[in-house]
Amino acid sequence: VDRSVQSDMKKLESDFPGFWYRYRLIKRIGEGTFSTVYKAEDKLYDQYVNEWDVQNEMSKWTPPPLERDSPSQHSPRKRTRYVAIKKIYVTSSPMRILNELELLHDLRRCPSVCPLITAFRQTDQVIAILPYFRHGDFRTYFRDMTIPDIRIYLRSLFTALRGTHEHRILHRDIKPTNFLYDPATQHGVLVDFGLAEREGSESKPCLCHEQRELRKTRQANSVWAQSVSSYTPSGYPKNDTRPSKRANRAGTRGFRAPEVLFKCTEQTTAIDIWSAGVILLTILSKRFPFFNSADDVEAMIEIATIYGARRMKVAGLLHGCVFDTTIPTVGQQGFTLEKIILWSTCRGEDKPLTADEKLAVKFMERCMDLDPSRRITAEEALEHEFLRIDSS
Ligand code: ADP
Ligand code: MG
Repeated sequence: VDRSVQSDMKKLESDFPGFWYRYRLIKRIGEGTFSTVYKAEDKLYDQYVNEWDVQNEMSKWTPPPLERDSPSQHSPRKRTRYVAIKKIYVTSSPMRILNELELLHDLRRCPSVCPLITAFRQTDQVIAILPYFRHGDFRTYFRDMTIPDIRIYLRSLFTALRGTHEHRILHRDIKPTNFLYDPATQHGVLVDFGLAEREGSESKPCLCHEQRELRKTRQANSVWAQSVSSYTPSGYPKNDTRPSKRANRAGTRGFRAPEVLFKCTEQTTAIDIWSAGVILLTILSKRFPFFNSADDVEAMIEIATIYGARRMKVAGLLHGCVFDTTIPTVGQQGFTLEKIILWSTCRGEDKPLTADEKLAVKFMERCMDLDPSRRITAEEALEHEFLRIDSS
């Protein structure tokens, strides 16, 4: 173990009084923008299982198989229970930390969502304790996934999304590193509610929620006209006096839904469905990352290259944005997602998609509808022919 990791672990153990009594830190498993996550052994596992029983908190949650020590003859009933300890950086605002813990608490009974066991605070340092889930690195297994594998993976992801969205919570950061999946056991859990928010908590009315007719007249004199162009000296105002449009854009580039890029001020849980669609696009195209833009404008161009300028324009107008481009590679018509899959996997005319793969693409098209109000919901997704239990 790296020396700085070792000293960070020592510090964590000494910062929290009694830490060593309950937990034994094993190794660092993740380091992100907002936290460091460690794997640890919970030495008092049996005790807290009883605590849960008393509170009747976890009774409805059946844990997937966890990593265990090999059974020993001397103590056949002793199991080792591992936890993930998420040390949230002290630079995160207290409101943000509280938000993450509160939302996790609300979702504690949702299947396929990683439950929060407990959390501790010592002065400005907060740690969250979660059950440890063994998982693979997405980049090592996604290319080998068969259609039945993809179905199981997505069923688990959409189950987590259904629970989250039923609670009217937007996750905002759906991507492979936040969905811990073990290809061996085919279990997955959604983690990282650090950017999550309650639907409507920050919204202001957006055109996309208006009735069609009203929207048409408003679009005609839209104040939010924003244009995207490669080089149009006259097209992009130098001294833009229009008020800037503000919207929550938190998330990860490449996974942001078009309405997030268009700065929709009334974003819904549909943004997570788009991101889940991008995961499916990654798996089917065998390319990760599929979208690889440096900023939001580039991200719009990437999406426009697939969907075509015409549909992109319509999508922008939903939120009062004028999408315009002179980039020659962005055509008017765009391409079908089926074509994109065929090209990115280098399959010629002689090797068309199978019926199962076509169904997967159909499902993906429903997840990646440019219009958030027409996009499939998590609940509907689980009923979709591609994901239905009896479809395999
Ligand atoms: P961040 O906000 O820093 O992205 P995450 O909650 O996404 O924090 O955790 C970062 C990484 O730590 C994850 O991508 C995963 O590899 C690992 N991790 C998080 N929670 C768990 C868990 N319950 N079990 C195992 N590994 C986890
Ligand atoms: Mg994360």
